[in-house]
Amino acid sequence: MAEKEALALDGMESGKKNNESSKLSCCSKFCRGNLLIILLLTSLLLGVLVGFIIKLGTNMEFTDKEIAYISFPGTLFLNSLKMVIIPLIVSSLIVGMASLDKQASGKLGLKAVAYYFSTTLLAVILGIVLVMSIQPGKGRDKSEIKRDGSSQQVNTVDAILDLLRNMVPPNIVAACFETYKTREVEIPPNEMMSMMTTTMATGGTMMMTGDGSTAIMNDTMMTTMMPKKMYRSVGGFESKTNVLGLVVFSCFFGAIIGRMGKQGEPLKIFFNAFMEAIMHLVGIIIWCSPIGIFFLILGKILGMDDWEETFQQIGMYSLTVMVGLGIHAFVVLPLIYVIFTRKNPITYLMGVSPALMTAFATASSSATLPITLRSLEENLRIDRRVTRFVLPIGATINMDGTALYEAVAAIFIAQVNDFNLDVKDVITISITATLASVGAAGVPQAGLVTMVIVLNAVGLPVDDITLIIVIDWFLDRCRTTINVWGDSIGAGIIYERSKADLEHLPDPFDISDKNGFYGAENYGDYDTKL
Ligand code: ASP
Repeated sequence: MAEKEALALDGMESGKKNNESSKLSCCSKFCRGNLLIILLLTSLLLGVLVGFIIKLGTNMEFTDKEIAYISFPGTLFLNSLKMVIIPLIVSSLIVGMASLDKQASGKLGLKAVAYYFSTTLLAVILGIVLVMSIQPGKGRDKSEIKRDGSSQQVNTVDAILDLLRNMVPPNIVAACFETYKTREVEIPPNEMMSMMTTTMATGGTMMMTGDGSTAIMNDTMMTTMMPKKMYRSVGGFESKTNVLGLVVFSCFFGAIIGRMGKQGEPLKIFFNAFMEAIMHLVGIIIWCSPIGIFFLILGKILGMDDWEETFQQIGMYSLTVMVGLGIHAFVVLPLIYVIFTRKNPITYLMGVSPALMTAFATASSSATLPITLRSLEENLRIDRRVTRFVLPIGATINMDGTALYEAVAAIFIAQVNDFNLDVKDVITISITATLASVGAAGVPQAGLVTMVIVLNAVGLPVDDITLIIVIDWFLDRCRTTINVWGDSIGAGIIYERSKADLEHLPDPFDISDKNGFYGAENYGDYDTKL
């Protein structure tokens, strides 16, 4: 009897132990599977925590130089991501396009464009509805809001022409480091005067007098009538990668290689191998991201201006942007995802989270692209023919967060100026905000620059951009995260809706899988079934 009891007790003990060890192994499996996400989240939170402890708990003040020293590991991480952007975009698009036949690439392209356009427009409409109902700028005296930085004059037509011009760069090598931009340069007063005098001397400037007759302007009249500022358009190249030009070139180049048959095969193999090598490099960079992100966030928080004052002044505006981004990210996009894929958006979010955290830390969707590609391919098993075709284009032109932000910011500036917007103005803002988001490069604060197009289009004072610059570093991070989330959801939907088209096509990326090299660094796997 006693023996039996002892045996039963033993059994219970070992059962408990088994239970515990299975729990433990489950836990360690989860940690191993999600190690990168755990590390990234820890570094992000730690960066914020340490930053706030130093900022609020001590009297330490840091100069710009000291902050640059503190952020140095973060800068190296950012540089390493930027280093792989051009080879990654070019090779992935070339291989992506070359691997699809005419019909498949056309269908995929069409689906992508339809998704980009509709979600961006939805984001703009959401932003407009929110800013019109919350009215963060109504009754605000703009002289009470602290201004920061400077603004630039841009002509709307020139900006749109620049966008088209950059799609067809005259020199593809130079496109790696130069972008065309037309600037509005202020004409110095003495030059303005001499311009008007010349016009007078040639007898050209007539004016209407009070009685309706005409007279030639004299000097005094001219000085009083002369506008305070005049601008002249000057176009030229500035040092910035023309990603749009590279995207367009690579798409066409890849499509042609794909249609060359046997002749194009060596190029296809070359770019495929090139792409795989770059992705291995990304695999190394990705494991450095927790350190990089910690220092980037820490440096940013230590360099932050007076947060409280800023929030008091333009808190409602920031809140409106954040609420809009939140609704778009947590309601609109997941809903679209569920409708089109019938899969679980939360698991999808988990799989994309390394890219989202990197987007928040770097404020650049281009710099995040390598991590987005890897997260989608490795964690979520999205077909590489889709990711490598859709994501580089999405990171360049699909920016839901930026579009929403531009619409809210433009209407906020209108409200601060007591400027009444009619239906025509609101439609103009929707269209220009969508275009401005397409034109914005995937780099920090690019949206702030292209917002000038929106303001100009409805005649709002461009100088008032300086009212919202103080908080832009933070809103930029939030909108970049939504931009990357939008691209990722797009890739997921397009993949699900294109499975049938892709089935009959050979997968050029298979070569690497067969030798087991590529999959060796898998860092997670998510079952996205609903
Ligand atoms: N920083 C954003 C991005 O890279 C662009 C913007 O300024 O809105 O996606």
